[in-house]
Amino acid sequence: MSFQEIKKQIEMCQDCRQKFGFTPVPIFHGKEQSKIMQISQAPSKKVHETGRPFNDPSGAKLKYQWYQITDDIFYNEDNFYITALAHCFPGKHPKGGDNPPPLACANKWLAKEIEMVDNQLYIIIGARAAKYLFPKDSFEDLIFKNSLFNGKPTIVLPHPSPLNIRWFKSHPSFEEKRVPEIREMVWDVLGIKGID
Ligand code: SF4
Repeated sequence: MSFQEIKKQIEMCQDCRQKFGFTPVPIFHGKEQSKIMQISQAPSKKVHETGRPFNDPSGAKLKYQWYQITDDIFYNEDNFYITALAHCFPGKHPKGGDNPPPLACANKWLAKEIEMVDNQLYIIIGARAAKYLFPKDSFEDLIFKNSLFNGKPTIVLPHPSPLNIRWFKSHPSFEEKRVPEIREMVWDVLGIKGID
């Protein structure tokens, strides 16, 4: 099956309709030759409603504070393939926050995307995504070092959600030291010097 056929199948996927109790909206973005493949956990409600990945407070922190790149650079398909364990917003949990991403989506679709996208760098976002791809490693160890996944350089990030504030406060060296290193790697792969 070609990459375009897989993309079409993901766009039409409704496997979780019954589980979610609403119409799933698969959201992902990019092409086979995108330079960076970014794998997060699942779209937020705002992303579900707008159809644009990382168009929410998490995305603002990720794009403008950590990567320090413009939307034009982030949403350029030559630059980023943006996907997640679950391609659809999984609904709100009755006790707060979002439901966990259904891993059946990652097993069915993400595995195919990883196989087909010819990226140079992986960026993995959030503890759930890290555990799925690096089941034996400690999340904190992964964040503070460069890793290899599928034979390619890989960065693991904490989730940039404002709800993660306690983690950022208890790990100040992440934003002070690790983020500048990560930004350098991102700019290097994209061949840019950031926002002028
Ligand atoms: S989350 Fe994944 S498996 Fe479920 S409906 Fe969306 S695309 Fe399909």
